[in-house]
Amino acid sequence: MRATLIYGARDVRVEDVPDPEIRQPTDAVVRVLRSCICGSDLWPYGARPATEQGERIGHEFLGVVEDVGAEVTGLKTGDVVVAPFVWSDNTCDFCREGLQTSCRHGGFWAADGVDGGQGEAVRVPQAHGTLVKLPVGEDSPLLPSLLALSDVFPTGHHCAVTAGVGPHTSVTVIGDGAVGLCAVLAARRLGAERIVLMGRHKARTALGREFGATDLVSERGGEGIERVRELTGGDGTQAVLECVGTKEAIETAFAVARAGGAVSRVGVPQYEEVPMGFPEFLRNLTLTGGVAPARAYIEELLPEVLDGTIDPGRVFDRTIGLEDVADGYRAMAAREALKVLIRP
Ligand SMILES: [Zn+2]
Repeated sequence: MRATLIYGARDVRVEDVPDPEIRQPTDAVVRVLRSCICGSDLWPYGARPATEQGERIGHEFLGVVEDVGAEVTGLKTGDVVVAPFVWSDNTCDFCREGLQTSCRHGGFWAADGVDGGQGEAVRVPQAHGTLVKLPVGEDSPLLPSLLALSDVFPTGHHCAVTAGVGPHTSVTVIGDGAVGLCAVLAARRLGAERIVLMGRHKARTALGREFGATDLVSERGGEGIERVRELTGGDGTQAVLECVGTKEAIETAFAVARAGGAVSRVGVPQYEEVPMGFPEFLRNLTLTGGVAPARAYIEELLPEVLDGTIDPGRVFDRTIGLEDVADGYRAMAAREALKVLIRP
């Protein structure tokens, strides 16, 4: 089959790789219907040291079950399924606590001999725990929004949940990338009243408005902080959803948090330290968030995607074939595309 490999910075290739097959009785093989490129894929795309041997990449996909191992229950050939961006047994103590990202028998896609999502098919370990069956056909127009359940929407949701967003919470979302926009949608869904979106790409912030942002702040750094404070009577907001991962973003997050509030970060951190010193102590700020246990949220979010109440798939603004995946990475890195959908 064909699959995507990364060889180094700005060096992504589609190559022939071995067809996936059942290795463990708990495996399934899934033919990929839709995959996509994640903002977090852009970090290795921007900086990975060059290597002779490529590494598989991609962690968001939905597809059709082609084969199941002898111990897989609840799934059969032909089922349409979505995979969260971490695989897990969904039965261990961490999984039962809703922290499938720490599963004792789980792991990441495109690592340790497990296929990546940006290919024609994937061997899925712990298939019964990992995959969620979708009551749709292979040609459903809902596929983009259902694919968003793999990572980007549950990540935005996790950011809002861990920050304590509920009815009437005031929220600042930092970042107008796909996760930031999904965080706006999630905060709105949870009842947030005021949602300030910090971002400066017009097409993206326009979608943010449609997802529920009430105020837009295009300035960054000190000016952006000033602007959010102005909008909130000098206080900042109760919840701050940091969806970028840079040092500037996390510093801005603490600066626009209201006393007693929470900063949640779901952008993959590109920094070593966070500003949690004496001033933040005096303001009683909480730092929360982390890698989102997408699997824990899919069943909760799925019905509203199926009935059209929420449509997180609108973050996809470009669709490509698998052979064009290198250009998809280029377009996302150049900010020409917000999020690229791959149709193998
Ligand atoms: Zn587990």
